[in-house]
Amino acid sequence: MSAPSAEPFDAVGVIRTKRDRGRISDAEIDWVIDAYTRGVVAEEQMAALAMAILLNGMAADELARWTQAMIASGERLDLSAVRRPTTDKHSTGGVGDKITLPLAPLVAALGAAVPQLSGRGLGHTGGTLDKLESIPGWRAKVSNADFISQLNSVGAVICAAGDGLAPADKKLYALRDVTGTVEAIPLIASSIMSKKIAEGAAALVLDVKVGTGAFMKTRDDARALAQTMVALGTAAGTATVALLTDMSTPLGLTAGNALEVRESMEVLAGGGPPDVVALTVALAVEMLAGAGITGVDPADALADGRAMDVWRAMITAQGGDPDAALPTAAEKQVLSAPSSGMLTRLDAYAVGVAAWRLGAGRARKEDPVSAGAGVVLLAKPGDQVRAGQPMLELHTDEPARFERALQALDGGFDICDGADFTAGPLVIERVGG
Ligand code: URA
Repeated sequence: MSAPSAEPFDAVGVIRTKRDRGRISDAEIDWVIDAYTRGVVAEEQMAALAMAILLNGMAADELARWTQAMIASGERLDLSAVRRPTTDKHSTGGVGDKITLPLAPLVAALGAAVPQLSGRGLGHTGGTLDKLESIPGWRAKVSNADFISQLNSVGAVICAAGDGLAPADKKLYALRDVTGTVEAIPLIASSIMSKKIAEGAAALVLDVKVGTGAFMKTRDDARALAQTMVALGTAAGTATVALLTDMSTPLGLTAGNALEVRESMEVLAGGGPPDVVALTVALAVEMLAGAGITGVDPADALADGRAMDVWRAMITAQGGDPDAALPTAAEKQVLSAPSSGMLTRLDAYAVGVAAWRLGAGRARKEDPVSAGAGVVLLAKPGDQVRAGQPMLELHTDEPARFERALQALDGGFDICDGADFTAGPLVIERVGG
């Protein structure tokens, strides 16, 4: 006979409680997250619990405790040595979403410190680190000491999260990915917020994307996720607001790593596509307000080069050469408009999958990405196009990839007379604050 377990609870009991729509007690939550991180709760048991949560949800206080337990599974960054107010941003991810690149230096240029722990892309949405790694010499890994010192000297750091931050989430996210349990609002909210709260910034702005290219396809789902995350942040003492923003069509004119860095530098030089500029400014206003900095216009710091100066310092501090030529793909192919009229729809998901298939993204987390691959938009919804006019430019290092990328774009746009076309708002709604 085996010896009785020294564990205070057993996983089956916790699963049964949630299966039967009960509330898991605080002590059970603390235990199950800790025991899962230690490997005592088995993967199949956590998979069953995740599915029960997906089906039956969690009470607000239950979710807050779950998030705290995920934070407690690892280290919490101590930003007390940072001499500026700290403020951070998180996007739920979209196609062409390069906003972090101009935003972090812009907010730093106006007096805040921006500690941005970012990730790599998986699937059709890109990752900030993949984009920055297209800059020759740039390093994603920064030690804790250099992190604090760069926040004081430059004001912004964009780098990889260390393994010590919310390790329970690392395990659980990988498990959810293969068990059909990613799409549970309590699990998404606790996953994102545990990492963001552990990062330790005093204020946080969430960019919750809505539309075909986003996790959340409907405004109602996006609002529910935003409200849940804002409540978690607020309960943890982080001043949190969320903007619901459109992701039915790609942001800006590029999707792909080096292509997006180039576009971000145009924004930092005072130009760039109007939607990228508008969203960068809208998020900067929220981040600065969270840091207690008001009465400044972020658009001025883009126009007069202050944000660009911080960008150059930020890239240089992490070994990058801000003046180096960015990689370009070896091959290009144009997709022309099949008819004349107004481009009324250019689907974000279709463009994201095309960019991914061209080599800009990865299918498994160990895959490499191509720095130069991606899609350039030569027209956006609302533009008139003529039959035969180039509409999209596909970039890749491997011409064999064109065919599958073109397949992804098949049915991904509409050209018609445009009589009923109205451009929807980029910022749809604000939650919290
Ligand atoms: N991003 C995360 O970090 N976690 C999720 O669950 C979904 C998106």
